[in-house]
Amino acid sequence: MRYCLPCNATYEKDLRVCPDCRSRLLDGNERDLWLAAQEELTNQRFVPVHVLEGPVEEALLQSLLGDAGIPWIIRGHRADGFLAAFTSQTGWGVLLVTEEDIPRARELIELFQESAVPDDFDSDSA
Ligand SMILES: [Zn+2]
Repeated sequence: MRYCLPCNATYEKDLRVCPDCRSRLLDGNERDLWLAAQEELTNQRFVPVHVLEGPVEEALLQSLLGDAGIPWIIRGHRADGFLAAFTSQTGWGVLLVTEEDIPRARELIELFQESAVPDDFDSDSA
């Protein structure tokens, strides 16, 4: 048995790709894991803490937060309704963490911004 999550459909045959939406089909184990992960995510309250300006910032903050053991979600590459207002301003995405991690995440983001974007770089080199 194979499952297509986007279509909420099941297939008897061992297809690899959903004939309707072309998503990769999951087996029973994968589906259970995915559903458990989704439930965990929706039970925790992830809230936006930072607007990402681009892929470099995204990658660096991901590794910073990962090293600190802070769970995160990034939304907005494919703007959904929830975050369309943010992403239309930036063209990239929004970083979300759980409410309890906001203070730690903000600290890391501030450190990152201070170290990664020296304000006087241009004026010194001119
Ligand atoms: Zn499908």
